[in-house]
Amino acid sequence: MVIKRQSNCPLCGAALTAMELVDACTELIDARLGVLESHCPHCQGCLEVMPAAGRIDIGYRVGPGNERFDVALSLPLEGLEIERTGDSSGLKLRVPGGSWAF
Ligand SMILES: [Zn+2]
Repeated sequence: MVIKRQSNCPLCGAALTAMELVDACTELIDARLGVLESHCPHCQGCLEVMPAAGRIDIGYRVGPGNERFDVALSLPLEGLEIERTGDSSGLKLRVPGGSWAF
């Protein structure tokens, strides 16, 4: 696993920050794993991300039935907190100064 402050979009190579990626998340695509769909703000390409406390993991679901999430890259996002909501069918992300519910 590579830990960086900033990542490049695997699709178009544009520099992305963790905050941009969180802000571009549109949908909870795997409630069990807590995987969100995000979009590169530069090429609109689809990325799979899994937020965790203090960081956001970028990767993809693998295995029969997509039971695992393989992390390709981990971006620190200071103060990020995640909370499962609605009987674990929802996900709430919070950073100092903002929050998102999926
Ligand atoms: Zn891109």
